[in-house]
Amino acid sequence: MRIAEIGGEFALINRLMRRVDGDPSVIKGIGDDCAVLAYTAERHLVVTTDMMVENSHFSRGWFSPFQVGKKLMEVNVSDIVAMGGVPRYAFISIALTRDTEVEYMDELYRGIYASGDKHGVHLIGGDTTHGREIVLNLALIGDVEKDLLCLRSDARPGDLICVTGTLGGNQAGLELLLAGKGGHSIEFLEPQCRLAGEGQIIARHANAMIDVSDGLGSEVRHICEESGVGARIDAGTIPISAEVREAGRTVGKDPIDFALSGGEDFELVFTLPPDRIDALRTEFTDFTIVGDILPRQEGLFLNKEGKRIDICRGYDHFAG
Ligand code: ADP
Ligand code: MG
Repeated sequence: MRIAEIGGEFALINRLMRRVDGDPSVIKGIGDDCAVLAYTAERHLVVTTDMMVENSHFSRGWFSPFQVGKKLMEVNVSDIVAMGGVPRYAFISIALTRDTEVEYMDELYRGIYASGDKHGVHLIGGDTTHGREIVLNLALIGDVEKDLLCLRSDARPGDLICVTGTLGGNQAGLELLLAGKGGHSIEFLEPQCRLAGEGQIIARHANAMIDVSDGLGSEVRHICEESGVGARIDAGTIPISAEVREAGRTVGKDPIDFALSGGEDFELVFTLPPDRIDALRTEFTDFTIVGDILPRQEGLFLNKEGKRIDICRGYDHFAG
């Protein structure tokens, strides 16, 4: 049986996972941006890992080695920031092809260190082996103030759904490259996650939080599944930059689709009780309200020009 036949990546993880029972140190196992482990009286540990495979997540033709290294760090830091945490220590495991140049790796690590320095991460270990394509895995450890821990599972009906920054830039950049067009591809080649300080501010007010690694539709679906709620996303309110709209025109695609299913924008999606909005705005303003959390029976849907479009399994599987 193929993985697609059981419903894809997440169905596979659900099938393979075992719930950890009876270990009070595991505060959250599989099912959030990071695992959460008991640590000190004030703080929990947060741990995440993300892999990048040559020709699936990057190609040597499009990405400079510096950009590959930078992306590897940013995708992982993003998951810690989405918990309200602070990233601290990284381990990197790499499989390299025999023809990989030393200079390529110097540049790749320059990218890792540039992003690591920005986020306060120290690289303290890893593993090196060979393979038929370059495979890079980073594991990242951080910590989070107990009161700030922000899970996917704490959204409540009535919460507003908010996103930081703008969405769709990553997919727009990819679409332009695929079409062989010049233009705004920097958000694809050099995605930047949010800073821990920003995630912590949001975490003081938000109920649930997740980072955008698979598109807004998919991230809100994770929140709904983990929190046992429904949600409405208002298509007209999704923040999309002028560059991304222009890219949409250039390749003849709807930029809303880039935002909903496009992937690795590494912005933060969070749910906010309406009475916290003014308090958050005094500290942080770079966010947009894109919908609201509903009772579970209302389902998860996109409201596009007054029409209800159900969101089943990411945007590709939208009914209607
Ligand atoms: P993210 O997109 O935030 O990096 P993922 O979608 O990769 O998160 O993973 C979702 C959850 O599933 C996480 O808790 C992650 O640790 C877990 N996970 C992913 N792949 C596996 C696997 N092969 N075995 C066990 N757990 C996994
Ligand atoms: Mg994530």
